[in-house]
Amino acid sequence: MTEPLLRVAGVSRSFGGVYAVRDVHLDVAPGELRGVIGPNGAGKSTLFGLIGGQLASRTGTITYAGQRIDRLPPHRRATLGIAIVFQGARVFGGMTVLENVMVGAHATTGGGFVGAALRLPRHHREEREIRHRAREALDRVGLAGWAGRSAESLPLGQQRALQVARALCGRPRLLLLDEPAAGLRAAERNALAQLIEELKAGGLTMIKIEHDVAFVTRLADRVTVLDLGRVIAEGTPAEVRADPAVVAAYLGG
Ligand code: ADP
Ligand code: MG
Repeated sequence: MTEPLLRVAGVSRSFGGVYAVRDVHLDVAPGELRGVIGPNGAGKSTLFGLIGGQLASRTGTITYAGQRIDRLPPHRRATLGIAIVFQGARVFGGMTVLENVMVGAHATTGGGFVGAALRLPRHHREEREIRHRAREALDRVGLAGWAGRSAESLPLGQQRALQVARALCGRPRLLLLDEPAAGLRAAERNALAQLIEELKAGGLTMIKIEHDVAFVTRLADRVTVLDLGRVIAEGTPAEVRADPAVVAAYLGG
């Protein structure tokens, strides 16, 4: 087997003595699209926080591209190529689509959002490079023609595409998407699914959280099922759908 791009090994996290994530193991191969599903409160977003470094794990290890990352702060993990579209992420109001993406680029090329916000004007060359990357990212998600629009005026489906563009601006190798299809209409979901398929075809490794079993299993190579912080099943979409433990978790049985 090829070396996994991401290896999560025995990671746990509790809040107030209650486990949100418990002894989770997860290997994601380069180029793989991994689905993560589970009922509300299963620990899916907490797992992303542990991978991205927004949350500290007290046990286990996380290895990315052959390097231990579980003690690194979030911006270092971002610089190494891990990007996250957070659950329910909002676009920045009062900014254009292009500016929204450029803020994301500043965050990954410099000292994070705060640094980006407080920094004096950058060198022209650096600014130009960021603008170039932002336009490239917008082009990849099909928003090139919307760069000058107010971000908050976009329909929700395109706002999600904008979040993806912002994540792509740092040229990640691993993209984490937390319920990107939530609240979207059927046509918007289809457009998002197509975008994710294009990113996969371009070789990007992704982990995608979904609440909706049907949507995640449609795209994923493999699916990991969480319930009460534990992995209760992992396999191909067909294997996972047929697993009695998965059916029971979803029916509350
Ligand atoms: P999911 O994304 O699968 O819906 P979460 O990872 O958001 O689940 O939450 C898992 C569990 O951890 C839930 O019981 C939730 O209430 C709890 N939890 C998550 N984040 C926090 C936090 N910052 N403080 C306290 N409890 C939290
Ligand atoms: Mg969540």
